[in-house]
Amino acid sequence: MKKYPVTKPYFTDEEIQLISDSLNSGWVAQGPKVAEFEKQTAKHEGISEGVATTSCTTALHLAMVAYGLKAGMDAIAPAFTFVATTNAIVMTGAVPVLCDIRQDTFNIDTENLRQIIENQYESKNGRLINKKTGNVLWGIVPVHEFGLCCDIYEVNKLATEYNLTVIEDAACALGAKINGIHQGAFGNASCISFHPRKSITTGEGGMVLTDDSNLAKRMRELRTHGSTVSADARDKGKGFLLPEFNEAGYNYRMTDVQGAMGLAQIKKLDTIIEEKRKGAVIYNELISDILPEFITPVEPEGYFHTYQSYVCMLNLEVLGIGSVEEGGKYRNTLLEKLEAIGIATRQGTHAVHMLGYYKNRFGYVSEDYVNAYACDHLSITLPLYVGISRDDQEDIVRNIRKTVDAM
Ligand SMILES: *Cc1c(COP(=O)(O)O)cnc(C)c1O
Repeated sequence: MKKYPVTKPYFTDEEIQLISDSLNSGWVAQGPKVAEFEKQTAKHEGISEGVATTSCTTALHLAMVAYGLKAGMDAIAPAFTFVATTNAIVMTGAVPVLCDIRQDTFNIDTENLRQIIENQYESKNGRLINKKTGNVLWGIVPVHEFGLCCDIYEVNKLATEYNLTVIEDAACALGAKINGIHQGAFGNASCISFHPRKSITTGEGGMVLTDDSNLAKRMRELRTHGSTVSADARDKGKGFLLPEFNEAGYNYRMTDVQGAMGLAQIKKLDTIIEEKRKGAVIYNELISDILPEFITPVEPEGYFHTYQSYVCMLNLEVLGIGSVEEGGKYRNTLLEKLEAIGIATRQGTHAVHMLGYYKNRFGYVSEDYVNAYACDHLSITLPLYVGISRDDQEDIVRNIRKTVDAM
């Protein structure tokens, strides 16, 4: 049988051309191609500033530091997300506080978010203080999981009510919209990933998007070791003077070779999303016709899902399975059998509270975040990429049907 990867990047000669331009120019560190890539990406999302980085993980860290997150503070993040979301919080010295998600959208449950804010914190001098640890609540890092925006209006309402910062983890969600407004326009900043699993890629890479030009300037300084150009060098054109370093920054710069690749990729973004959205509609039809054991992903009214990943849930009722743990075993066996016949699938993402570092540090148990735990055990990502045909998708769904029948 034909082999289907879970995803694959979409390249043409244009990537090769632009990368070779970059090599021929002799300029391979961060330079004009990165600057142009930042401009084009921000423009696509309707945001004024883009700050390219080495990954979304470093983009998140950079944005969090620039927006003041540090030791002695808490940041709330969903319990079902790639570990980088909460790792970035840990990198600042702050404490991640988890919030459960919804099983239908895989995104943060804003009712649970309100409960956490109102039950675990008390207001003192206009700040929210963690009743147990004394930490100040800095803000929220909602995730637009798999290319679907979370209920960001509700998140923002809480943020306004309690004076909190919002950094959107939009690693998967470049191009995602609500009522025509792109991700990134909602929070204080948003962070994108250009890892090959995401919609467009630069190999590794990330970007912070923001409408705040002061913060963008500060992130550019922090990205380059904390360097600022001295007034003397700036005003008198003394290019030989080294910049000033008044704080310990990072080296989070993207290379111009990657910037070149990004420039070729950003032009393809709309095509990629369009193709994936078509593929998602086909899967929705095929699955509802012959695979009731699978629950298809939702796209709420007004939302524009980019289907960075097409993620289903197992329907335990239809399968006659009584527990999430049993469901998880069934799911893993199914994934193994599909892998064996050439269909690559993956669990959607993981429940952070069940990962070693977080479990050990905070003493979490599975029931702490029941929906994240269920999605960890029951989610399945199906192959979806530019170039997959309706025939391929029929082949995949028919073979899943056969495999499920034989289990
Ligand atoms: C992929 C991903 C990240 C990390 O992106 P990198 O570019 O690999 O660092 C962070 N958050 C979420 C939700 C992701 O899916």
